[in-house]
Amino acid sequence: MTLEELHQLFLAHPTICTDTRKITKNCIFFALKGQNFNGNAFAEEALKKGAAYAIIDEEEHKTSVNCLVFDNVLETLQQLASLHRNKNKVKVIALTGSNGKTTTKELINKVLSKKYNTIATIGNLNNHIGVPLTLLSINENTEIAIVEMGANHKQEISFLSKIAQPDFGYITNFGKAHLEGFGGIEGVIEGKSELYDHLISNDKHVFMNGDDDVQQEKLKSYIKKIGFSTKDHQYYNISFIEANPFVVLEVEGHQIKTQLIGKYNFPNCCAAVLMGKYFNVPLSDIKTALESYVPQNNRSQIIDKNGFQIILDAYNANPSSTKAALENFKNMTAQEKTLILGDMFELGKDAAKEHQAIADLAKKLGFTNVFLVGEIFFQVQTPFKKLKSFNDLRSELEHSPLKKGTFLIKGSRGMALERTLDFLKV
Ligand code: ATP
Ligand code: MG
Repeated sequence: MTLEELHQLFLAHPTICTDTRKITKNCIFFALKGQNFNGNAFAEEALKKGAAYAIIDEEEHKTSVNCLVFDNVLETLQQLASLHRNKNKVKVIALTGSNGKTTTKELINKVLSKKYNTIATIGNLNNHIGVPLTLLSINENTEIAIVEMGANHKQEISFLSKIAQPDFGYITNFGKAHLEGFGGIEGVIEGKSELYDHLISNDKHVFMNGDDDVQQEKLKSYIKKIGFSTKDHQYYNISFIEANPFVVLEVEGHQIKTQLIGKYNFPNCCAAVLMGKYFNVPLSDIKTALESYVPQNNRSQIIDKNGFQIILDAYNANPSSTKAALENFKNMTAQEKTLILGDMFELGKDAAKEHQAIADLAKKLGFTNVFLVGEIFFQVQTPFKKLKSFNDLRSELEHSPLKKGTFLIKGSRGMALERTLDFLKV
């Protein structure tokens, strides 16, 4: 079967499943392989559960005429996504960056869906499987697709860009995240910039943060750029008003009061405003969209529990986002501030140094109630309380319950520090 023929089948059965636990009637099952599983072995089950076809790449698993054998299932999924994207007149906006991709994607989607039929990456499905699945959710009514692209090593964004062929792109920032895979901050800049490189070489438009020196330098001689800035009048000007705790910005004399905590969310909001303006969404709708967005999944959420005010930022952490969170917390008006910080993963040889720098920064900013949790933080030199594991933190807090006040809780996903909420006692 050719790719074209597969696309015809897909149009008649436009739901893709990759997990037999989530089969829906008449879907097409793609038998992907993972480290610990081989989807081919599940093809028969997928068909029994109602899949119309199963795409496999191991002949011996062809148990029915509805098992279609291709050379490589993953590559077929990617090629099908690319073909499907090409056959639709949709405008694709791609997003990458070290921090804030999902938040920015959600904000852009809120804004643009005021005027257009949009689709956007679901949740955080931003890798070599998630990007194709997102593109395959484009339908004949879709006008704009907002596609999040994640990467933890070089060439990944370049590869995803070839699949998605974006018309527009935006890089949220270059930060100290996934240093291990990128080989340092220079590697991060190079790796994330692959999106701009792809757009430039295809003569497409680039959205940019005009306050970001690296982006300025990279795009200085490129004409098709659309930027925002708080100070540079060659870009669309947006003012930062405050983040105390919620971000307030001013656009064309109108204040937008978001439900997002942290100054670091300001550029994320600006990007959404900029794209709204570019695509002619009325400012009043842009304002409503931004003001109604509430962050999900432990991303800078503010929670009031039993008299404790908690800034729960336990979704992920890296040196840049932790620094931004600490500085923001410092500037917040609140009493009895306590920090609970968990290890930041994937930093490779820089891990010890970066954890030390965060402990030093917390001290420099004048925090005194600080709990550092995890095996890497346990090694740093600091006057703060160190706990080797989450269980040690639990025992510590059971013996000496926390005083009421305001808490910043931030750590890598693997630390799952949101569990702290379970034992904040009244
Ligand atoms: P992932 O790499 O897991 O996909 P992401 O880039 O999609 O992450 P978000 O999920 O939007 O990022 O946000 C995760 C956390 O990153 C937020 O809770 C916040 O702490 C931090 N963050 C968000 N935006 C920024 C920013 N512009 N600069 C620094 N940190 C940020
Ligand atoms: Mg994300």
